[in-house]
Amino acid sequence: MATLVFERIRKTFGHHVVVDDVHLEIGSGEIFSLLGPSGCGKTTLLRMAAGFLKPDVGRVLLEGADMTDLPPEKRPVNTVFQSYALFPHLSVWENIAFGPRMAGASKGDIRNRVTAMLDLIQLHEHAQKLPGQLSGGQRQRVAIARALINKPRVLLLDEPLAALDLKLRQHMLSELRRIHREVGCTFVFVTHDQSEAIALSDRIAVMNQGRLQQVGSPSSIYSEPANTFVASFIGHTNFLDASVTATGVRLLNRNIEGVSLPNGFQPGDKARVSIRPECWKLADEGIPAKITEHVFMGAHSLLHVWVQDQSLTIQLPCDLARTMSLSPGTEVKLSFDAADVKVLSDVQ
Ligand code: ATP
Repeated sequence: MATLVFERIRKTFGHHVVVDDVHLEIGSGEIFSLLGPSGCGKTTLLRMAAGFLKPDVGRVLLEGADMTDLPPEKRPVNTVFQSYALFPHLSVWENIAFGPRMAGASKGDIRNRVTAMLDLIQLHEHAQKLPGQLSGGQRQRVAIARALINKPRVLLLDEPLAALDLKLRQHMLSELRRIHREVGCTFVFVTHDQSEAIALSDRIAVMNQGRLQQVGSPSSIYSEPANTFVASFIGHTNFLDASVTATGVRLLNRNIEGVSLPNGFQPGDKARVSIRPECWKLADEGIPAKITEHVFMGAHSLLHVWVQDQSLTIQLPCDLARTMSLSPGTEVKLSFDAADVKVLSDVQ
């Protein structure tokens, strides 16, 4: 049974439909990300799981039980906010102990549970400090411990890394994975950062303008984007116009056989395809292209090329790029595999 279900949720603010018929089933122990651009409705969805907002239509279920009308404190979920929301006048220890103390736990029980949480977040030596004496990453870990000490069935994380710098964000991603492995409860993570969602999640729901665009594993969303929005929001890609043939598609004046087509496409239909930069190869025989720019990126190189009447970006491993002359103006030939041509379902 799914742990958390958003059952056909709709939410409006005034005339603005912010969440539009969203149905999601999140499994036990999953790290599940709600990913989308600012304003797409992901935080509104999370707030409905936490109980801070009520849907206009639909229900929120936890392990089969309807939580839609329960107040936040009655739900077995806890939220970690972007701002951490720690009590500034309480020590790390007292911040973490706050939930069990309010619930009337015994002194011994509180001591054991706080100690276990300090083990989990590895902050024993900072237990007596105030939040203002900690780094951003340490504060974030205290906020996670304060939420997890209540043993929630689901931990909701609202852009928890947004306030951290890049290095710390990467470190906290691996910390979150470790903490998740140790506690095993379901994590629902809200972010607008696709690389964070890809690195952390078992599954991702991509949202745009209040609607679900695609739900799947990071690799399936990256390699099999359902539509133009997902293809452009997750990573970088090249869009090309194509037409459907009896055996595949025609693009850049070539027939590409064996391309898989979404349902509903017929020979003669127009289509748009996505071919990721890393799917292109330099070849002896292939599509003529002229290099307009070569950008060294460290581990790889990006080539901007002009093909027929459009500009494309291709990615080459740095060792290959080093051994060849790839200066602007150089003419090259390009190829790709039919399996890397992704026909998008929303342009026909
Ligand atoms: P961000 O990444 O910027 O937090 P988001 O995807 O989480 O964006 P939401 O916070 O869910 O977006 O907001 C979705 C839309 O709903 C926005 O247009 C926002 O202005 C609007 N909205 C959110 N809360 C309210 C509210 N209480 N009253 C009116 N409009 C609201």
